[in-house]
Amino acid sequence: MSDEDMGNCPKCRKPFVGAVEVMTTEIEGIATIVLEETTDRNWIQCDTCSLVICKGCCKDAGSGFCNDCLEEKAVPSQSAAAVFNRPIG
Ligand SMILES: [Zn+2]
Ligand SMILES: [Zn+2]
Repeated sequence: MSDEDMGNCPKCRKPFVGAVEVMTTEIEGIATIVLEETTDRNWIQCDTCSLVICKGCCKDAGSGFCNDCLEEKAVPSQSAAAVFNRPIG
């Protein structure tokens, strides 16, 4: 157990707590690495840009992406379709 400083959220300055623990488990004789987050973890690391922010500041912490990347992924396909769906004539 290390007591290193996790840092603070760049948005709300809240200190990060909790961690992701790397566990090794054996499934059918094959050693498999499993990532398990501690229950008190209050932050996520964005899968796309590696930004670390607290779950409170992330719009969708369950997605594993920061707000900026969530917005980039949220392609407004419906409004784009509407542009091409003009009545003819
Ligand atoms: Zn925050
Ligand atoms: Zn991101």
